[in-house]
Amino acid sequence: MTDVHDILTKYWGYTSFKAMQEEIIASVLNGKDTVALLPTGGGKSLCFQVPALAMEGICIVVSPLVALMGDQVNALKERGVKALKLTGGISFNELNTLLDNALYGNYKFLYLSPERLQQEIVQNYIKQMRVNSIAVDEAHCISQWGNDFRPSYKNITILREIHPLAPIIALTATATPEVLEDTISELKMELPAIFKNSFVRENLSYQVFKEEDKLYKTELLLKTNTGAAIVYVRSRKSTVEISAQLNSLGISATFYHGGISAKEKAQKLQDWSQGIYSTMVATNAFGMGIDHPNVRFVIHLQIPDSLESYFQEAGRAGRDGQYASAVLLYNEYDKQQVKNQFVESLPTTSDLKKIYRKLHNYFQISYGEGEFTKHNFSFSEFCKTYGLNTLLTYNALNSLDRLAIIQLSQEFGRKSTLQF
Ligand code: ADP
Ligand code: MG
Repeated sequence: MTDVHDILTKYWGYTSFKAMQEEIIASVLNGKDTVALLPTGGGKSLCFQVPALAMEGICIVVSPLVALMGDQVNALKERGVKALKLTGGISFNELNTLLDNALYGNYKFLYLSPERLQQEIVQNYIKQMRVNSIAVDEAHCISQWGNDFRPSYKNITILREIHPLAPIIALTATATPEVLEDTISELKMELPAIFKNSFVRENLSYQVFKEEDKLYKTELLLKTNTGAAIVYVRSRKSTVEISAQLNSLGISATFYHGGISAKEKAQKLQDWSQGIYSTMVATNAFGMGIDHPNVRFVIHLQIPDSLESYFQEAGRAGRDGQYASAVLLYNEYDKQQVKNQFVESLPTTSDLKKIYRKLHNYFQISYGEGEFTKHNFSFSEFCKTYGLNTLLTYNALNSLDRLAIIQLSQEFGRKSTLQF
């Protein structure tokens, strides 16, 4: 086995590991199931790539996004590592050839989408491979309690069945306890070693400004920008409008949202990455897997859905470790809008009563003579923040500061209670 430091220097030219990387790598090399919980930009890829290079055989990497796979495979190839990817849109012949290469060609990494694991040919080939480890990137996608649930992630357990001795390494930046616990159990990980690093980003400054003229403030900020920028807005329409306005102010901007074609998305991402446009005006569809080093500004022109999304989105700034700013601009109107959304997301009194009755029967919980009234508190907001799926009831009698939240699966299979 080659020394992991030598591998780091030989293939990446880096001189030292980032926080937790070495411990995580050692754990995988010990054959243990391992969870790497590092913030965005924390260097999760190396956590499975380095040990895979230190071992004989191939690492199977499951990844949720085609773009993400492409980036990683290209980066590995550039470093002289044999890696390939199985994405959608390839013919059966191509698939056969790729799998043949993976099996006989001394490849070190096989990236695939979770959907691919359903194909028998893929399974059969993987069976014959000498699999040294199974890496699950964005592992929280397997949990239906999280924001990015991907049902096909459940296919990953096929890999465990085929190669029970290969350690699974799950990588994620989503650290809510519910999602983490669920991810571990859904992946059928065995007593995994869990490594978690601080989510503090030393090189980021977070600022919140109350601004009546948000565009003017944005212009001022972006005119000082020496690198790339992302401006987040809440609607598709706003991405188009704001990017046009920025362009007319002399800031080169383009827009990105969930409604544009995959091809256009790839093109826009590429143009922005190459600096043809400095600024991407986007909805939260511009998300997972955006790993551009020199984003100096992430500006939110509207208040995001939750603190957790804010942290993820703002965290796309400064991935090169250099100083960068996350700026949230808001005005009274935005505040009111968020409030309204919160209120609309609340269950109605009659919903609550129904739920309460069910819960009462199920848990024999008595809350006293509570009247269920609408509170100025967002259930869905809280669910998201804590990775909870369904918030079913609270005790209105005891008022907000002693809110009891009970979370159950649809089948009432799971239970957890939070008091605060
Ligand atoms: P994550 O998946 O956790 O968001 P990545 O694996 O994409 O993070 O890594 C983020 C950046 O950090 C990449 O540009 C990567 O090359 C760099 N990086 C990772 N490990 C190190 C290291 N030990 N030293 C210097 N840079 C590193
Ligand atoms: Mg990553």
